[in-house]
Amino acid sequence: VAKNAGEPEFHQAVKEFLETVRPVVEKHEEQYRKLALLERLCEPERQIRFRVPWVDDNGQVQVNTGYRVQFNSAIGPYKGGLRLHPSVYFGIIKFLGFEQIFKNSLTGLPIGGGKGGSDFDPKGKSDNEVMRFCQSFMTELYKHIGADTDVPAGDIGTGAREIGFMYGQYKRITGLYEGVLTGKGLTYGGSLARTEATGYGLLYFTEELLKINNIDIAGKTAVVSGSGNVAIYAIQKANQLGVKVLTCSDSTGWIYDPDGVDVTTLQLVKEQHRARLTEYKELRPNSVYHEGRADGGVWGVKADIALPCATQNELNLDDAKALVANGVIAVCEGANMPTTLDATEYLKEQGVIFGPAKAANAGGVATSALEMSQNSERLSWTFEEVDAKLKQIMINIVHNIDAAAKEYGKEGDYAAGANIAGFLKVADAMIAQGVV
Ligand code: NDP
Repeated sequence: VAKNAGEPEFHQAVKEFLETVRPVVEKHEEQYRKLALLERLCEPERQIRFRVPWVDDNGQVQVNTGYRVQFNSAIGPYKGGLRLHPSVYFGIIKFLGFEQIFKNSLTGLPIGGGKGGSDFDPKGKSDNEVMRFCQSFMTELYKHIGADTDVPAGDIGTGAREIGFMYGQYKRITGLYEGVLTGKGLTYGGSLARTEATGYGLLYFTEELLKINNIDIAGKTAVVSGSGNVAIYAIQKANQLGVKVLTCSDSTGWIYDPDGVDVTTLQLVKEQHRARLTEYKELRPNSVYHEGRADGGVWGVKADIALPCATQNELNLDDAKALVANGVIAVCEGANMPTTLDATEYLKEQGVIFGPAKAANAGGVATSALEMSQNSERLSWTFEEVDAKLKQIMINIVHNIDAAAKEYGKEGDYAAGANIAGFLKVADAMIAQGVV
């Protein structure tokens, strides 16, 4: 704890992990202790922090801080997104990087865990300002990444525009046309279905998780938070599966749409106009806009399924109580660590089916790994091919975490199952590779 002082998000992620893998650790206690396996696992292999100076449209120099945490490379090159948000500091990047290790392991693909980003806020910046920031950021980051060493991707605030600017600068500096970033545009090495992958994967996961509990997803209602990349494609796939989504949100407010959230309108507002949800309300007069988290926020709306898709710790104990009071059946996490620890415990106690982020949102990074494969073979697969692989990966994850939970006496505890299944593979690889 002393080593990571002032990093509550990192503590939260590690605590949740260690508590749930206890049965595995007890089984191998002597060996793990001798090898300091858990100590090594919780210590990033490398942490990089750097200055990112750039010039705004008024000619004023601005200075941000850049981060990359290369957490664990036991099973493959570091892989994980870049978050651009004013709240970014080591505590956030380390919690995300730590979770990424086990998520990536669960995909069954050869990728290690990493994460990065900056406290830069793309909101309200011109395209030119975003480009100058991204170029400056990559001018340092390029020294630490590569197609076979560390392959960053998007996350909050980093979408197709930012990845494009960063890729251009990497190529310009190194002269290499290689798959060093994922989430690229389709004209320069991107994969079909990557944009949709996290949201679609979340719904494939939720559908299968309900199925093994003998529940049919079709005809259910859902509440979704967020209105970014994950939320938009979660809502689209939910609609395709016959689920009516009643809400979405951003950092300034939330929408209740009794007719079901309209994805085309949401895409217009968010992807094209980069606007606020007040514009959604104007375009859909039947919907209701609430400021901030007024009237209980999205979790106060009655629905069968809750899909948090915005950010960490956005669903607290009071929210969990409101969901349970409204008869929620399942909570599946699209965002990373959106549910607080006490809320997670409460949901599990109340018998709510809980799909943890590491498993439920792994479709994004899994498809990023498929993008890496396509880049390596210099081929592009069709949308249907990638989507079918994604769906199969999510189905496999559900069965693996279910089996791991059962094997270690935690039947129905999918958070424990995800941590255990993800951990076993990484632990095995770390032990095999000796003390490194
Ligand atoms: P986007 O930037 O596209 O969207 C984020 C959404 O969440 C926006 O609606 C944003 O509102 C809202 N949001 C962000 N921060 C806050 C906050 N502090 N309070 C309230 N609302 C907030 O990001 P993504 O959709 O890509 O990511 C969402 C979550 O999913 C994150 O936890 C991310 O780590 C996780 N994730 C993403 C993957 C991906 O492939 N993109 C893969 C796996 C996980 P506003 O625009 O107003 O800020």
